[in-house]
Amino acid sequence: HFKPSPYLFSVKMGFPIPPEKIEFRHYINGEFCESSDKGSFELKSPYSHEKIADICEASVDDTNRAVAAAKAAFPAWAAQSPAERGALLKQLAARIRTIHNELAQLNAMDMGRPVSTYFDPISAAMLFENYAEAGYEAKGTTSLNTPGFVNMTFRQPIGPVAAIIPWNIPTISFALKVAPALAAGCTIVLKSSEKAPLTPARLAHEVHAAGFPPGVINVLSGHGTPSGATLASHMDIRMVNFTGSTSTGRKIQAAATSSNLKKVVLELGGKSPAIIFEDANIEKAAQETSDSVHTVMGQACTANSRIYVQESIADRFKTAFLKAFTAPIKGDPLDPKTQQGPQADGLQYERIKSYIKAGTEGSGKLETGGKPAQVDGKGYFIEPTLFSNVDENNKTQIEEVFGPFANLNTFKTEEEVMKKANNTEYGLYASVYTKDINRAMRVAKAFESGAVGINCTSPSMGMDMPFGGWKSSGQGREGFGYSLDEHLEIKTVLIKIEDDAFAGWGVE
Ligand code: NAD
Repeated sequence: HFKPSPYLFSVKMGFPIPPEKIEFRHYINGEFCESSDKGSFELKSPYSHEKIADICEASVDDTNRAVAAAKAAFPAWAAQSPAERGALLKQLAARIRTIHNELAQLNAMDMGRPVSTYFDPISAAMLFENYAEAGYEAKGTTSLNTPGFVNMTFRQPIGPVAAIIPWNIPTISFALKVAPALAAGCTIVLKSSEKAPLTPARLAHEVHAAGFPPGVINVLSGHGTPSGATLASHMDIRMVNFTGSTSTGRKIQAAATSSNLKKVVLELGGKSPAIIFEDANIEKAAQETSDSVHTVMGQACTANSRIYVQESIADRFKTAFLKAFTAPIKGDPLDPKTQQGPQADGLQYERIKSYIKAGTEGSGKLETGGKPAQVDGKGYFIEPTLFSNVDENNKTQIEEVFGPFANLNTFKTEEEVMKKANNTEYGLYASVYTKDINRAMRVAKAFESGAVGINCTSPSMGMDMPFGGWKSSGQGREGFGYSLDEHLEIKTVLIKIEDDAFAGWGVE
């Protein structure tokens, strides 16, 4: 069903890393340290429910120390040449590739992602490699348009930045935040998610080994409060780059506004539609939309969880979809045969069950699933769940479920389906399947969405394309080349080359 990453094929999976061998301390100013108040929290396996480790909980004091380190390191890092900074980014990329297997295991342990579906370190390494060359793009412009002047713009690093990341793709999120910040000449404090702290903590060791100057990259673990909230309102942080839920995004923006008006980049939730027209390759569309909903057990911001299929092909599509959707083998995420792991934790599990209840109480028909799955009596497993003919006002059609859950509705006309597809506060990703090029382009234009897939779904997202949301799915863009811009401030420099030249606000 899922294609295992080519890298994993070449790596012999070892046994799980014994938890006592993993170091989970904060990484501040080039040193590993415990929380100043010795605070920690218990991390449990979503598969066995057993304790994995005690994780350091960053206090306000720890967070302030990390920001102070990033602030102190900023002038020297910003003054380095792009080539010098790039050499370190390449080092880190190479190191990430060599610990692919270990990262896969750690992610399986803390959030249940099956090792067979784990390609993230390759994407992360590619991001660091690409951004290693990107610093040279921080160029300004020149203008000779004002008589008597040569005018220009500089683009300069914005300052110390904070990154707050979610748990669903922590390794990629780490790279999406850290690589562009460093390439632009910024220093960074990254806070991992309390649900998936292991891979960012492991990456901090590679940062250390790669030889980054102290304070350039600081990695904290802990909850949104106090550490995340302290970062969002910190007066010395110039930009907060956040990925997570829309509700937390609102809090981050409010904190930024009421502190120093720092810049805010928000990568938030989604409720992505997929539209399948009658001329599409039906079996392919069914397999790919099913894969999209299964990505990270449905815990992906881009999951095409609202599927609209044209009436004339509805039965054929549904049969193909159900075959693909119910196929993944459930099991221990550390077992290479497993294709569907448990949901990330008890909270997510209960949340998904509450959406299943809302679906059941609505007028839609339960086609498959609708209950937790039993796997050796262990884990937060959910049976892949599909409802059909769901009322557009049902909670499951409006809110992000974040589980192996989708709704399948039918439509007659393009006009009708576009209204339904866009009738959402979210606008992150949308897909259309059709062989008619004119229709494909019309639909792509009409989607209110930051990204559109034509005859493909969200897992096709290229790392070198801008990625971000319209409407309540966010603001700003990630992706190679685009995120660099977010980290650069523009400065206008006016140079008078004729003594008596005058250009007051463009008046000559
Ligand atoms: P979340 O909002 O609960 O948490 C995200 C991060 O914010 C965590 O590190 C958390 O500790 C921190 N946080 C929580 N409260 C905070 C506060 N008051 N101040 C500062 N930080 C705070 O989200 P989540 O459950 O970790 O992630 C799932 C969400 O992320 C989904 O909505 C998903 O769609 C979204 N997501 C979006 C993208 C994207 O690129 N658009 C990518 C991945 C995930």
